[in-house]
Amino acid sequence: MSSTTPQIRLFNTLSKSKEDFVPLDANNVRMYVCGPTVYDYAHIGNARPAIVFDVLFRLLRHVYGKEHVTYVRNITDVDDKINARAARDFPQMPLNKAIQQLTGTTQAQYQADMKALGCLAPSIEPRATDHIAEMVDMIEVLIEKKHAYTADGHVLFDVKSFRDGDEVLYGKLARRTLKDMIAGARVEVAPYKRDPMDFVLWKPSANDGPGWQSPWGTGRPGWHIECSAMSKKYLGETFDIHGGGIDLSFPHHENELAQSCCANDTEQMAQIWMHNGFLQIEGNKMSKSEGNFFTVDELLHTKKFGGRKWPGAVLRLAMLMKNYREPIDFSLTRLEEAEKTLQRWKRAMLALGLDFTEANRAEYEKLGPCSKMLAALASDMNMSGVLAELHRHAGGKKRHNAGRLFGSLGLLGVVDFDAMMVWQEQQTDALETKGVDVAHVEASIALRLMALHEKNWAEADRIRDELASKGIQLMDYKDPETGEKRTRWEIRQ
Ligand code: AMP
Ligand code: ZN
Repeated sequence: MSSTTPQIRLFNTLSKSKEDFVPLDANNVRMYVCGPTVYDYAHIGNARPAIVFDVLFRLLRHVYGKEHVTYVRNITDVDDKINARAARDFPQMPLNKAIQQLTGTTQAQYQADMKALGCLAPSIEPRATDHIAEMVDMIEVLIEKKHAYTADGHVLFDVKSFRDGDEVLYGKLARRTLKDMIAGARVEVAPYKRDPMDFVLWKPSANDGPGWQSPWGTGRPGWHIECSAMSKKYLGETFDIHGGGIDLSFPHHENELAQSCCANDTEQMAQIWMHNGFLQIEGNKMSKSEGNFFTVDELLHTKKFGGRKWPGAVLRLAMLMKNYREPIDFSLTRLEEAEKTLQRWKRAMLALGLDFTEANRAEYEKLGPCSKMLAALASDMNMSGVLAELHRHAGGKKRHNAGRLFGSLGLLGVVDFDAMMVWQEQQTDALETKGVDVAHVEASIALRLMALHEKNWAEADRIRDELASKGIQLMDYKDPETGEKRTRWEIRQ
């Protein structure tokens, strides 16, 4: 870490407080985020964790170096919902083929959607079905260590066995006692369970459902063991950050934590557990089961929401205009506000003297964020602080401000050089359609600067007025590097 880098602080669900982030190994900072169950299009709520943890991934890469961060996000491709959907959508195929077809196309769609939202591909995206052997191994260890038992063809995790002396540790993430959990949860009270909170590690397959050979007969793994087995394989027994949406904190993460600590004899699975708040729609969680959702694909490519398509960068920014732990309301106003803000920032970059042409690429791509923006981001991704800095630079007067704005937006993954190059070209085209002759404007500005230099105020004013009559507004400023007088221009909106 360089001396100018701020200390990253993150809110840990486990301790319910912000903690200094100190990686176990600064040469390999490791993060695991629970990924999608691939049976249907991702809705924009599902995109929230992908975007939030992508920003964290980018921050970690910035601080520790690209080569020193490993980000794993799994693909859940074994699940009852998958089986049901595959049978419904591909009735003519054998179920196993149908499942392959469904999970393959849904995974590809998810990856394309997240890319369109500006998310980098994680370092590794393991599929659950490629890791059945690792799950079976872990379950065997749990049985051997008496943390799991077989009953009625199932293997169950014994929650009461996760303890320290008299103290039951199961519930330490949720901070609830077993008694409270049982009272609050809609648990399946199967007669073969020793405790109602005991959960499935392995279960028998339905006759036509997908199944794998195991010491307990043909069956399939429970959902939670997936993440324990895959995170161990790619990140080790203990790693730095484990993330996901707040709905996963219980029971999914509680169960992952219990399994991993018991199988590996470790005190912790991840140092820091992080959870993003819900994306809501009219006060309710956006979810498939509520039917109140918009898919990322629909928002990007159809006019279903607000009668128009929405660019990925606008959707991304809308998601980042709220701190990640707070709930966020998905609304037209929010998207419109994000779009207006993004337009203002882009215009400011050009107006303050950036020119996104190939010759400048190498120079601009080296531009980094400003230290205050970085400090806000490092402070548990405090987006209000980040936005304040971005607005400050957009309202600045110097080319330096434009550079910082571009560097900061680049770190957030909201714009990059290519996006700005395309946008700048579109602006020029738009000027042409409005009948603005850019060459004439620039020549007039040069003549006016000459007139000013010769103290020919009348001529300078005449040129200003002539351009104003065409809706073009001039703003004079001093080049911060050379001190020379310069002029930028804008079309009056
Ligand atoms: P799922 O495919 O349902 O397992 O969800 C994938 C990810 O999206 C998980 O991290 C969930 O916590 C998250 N998620 C689902 N719905 C929402 C929502 N409305 N707002 C924010 N995150 C969500
Ligand atoms: Zn998980």
